Amino acid sequence: MTQQTKASFKVSEVIQRLADSGIGFTACHDGPAGMITVTLTPGQLEMYWNDPPTAFASVYGVSRDDYIAWHAAGYMAQCGNLTARGRRCRNAVVDGHLVGSPDRWLAMNGGYCKIHGEGFS
Ligand SMILES: [Zn+2]
Repeated sequence: MTQQTKASFKVSEVIQRLADSGIGFTACHDGPAGMITVTLTPGQLEMYWNDPPTAFASVYGVSRDDYIAWHAAGYMAQCGNLTARGRRCRNAVVDGHLVGSPDRWLAMNGGYCKIHGEGFS
């Protein structure tokens, strides 16, 4: 095989050929209880080739920033209410510790903790 032949394949073509042959794609990322394995479509595998967080964000239907924020928050959905001093409450929302996926985390983040959910401030 010459160099030119090797270079003539685009990443997307290689991925599509593999997919057409019945080969599936999975990738792993950190989660609250260890590594999480997800299945990637051929399009998502191409994203993964360029930038893994973009591919994982696509799997969950969230933005890349939200996927990163889920990790950065330690998988905790934070109460969106303000304390009596006007600062953002630092408590987790109800059941908001170690949220297992970024789409669920996004839906829960900014909700109410136990205290604010009961109307106290
Ligand atoms: Zn709160």
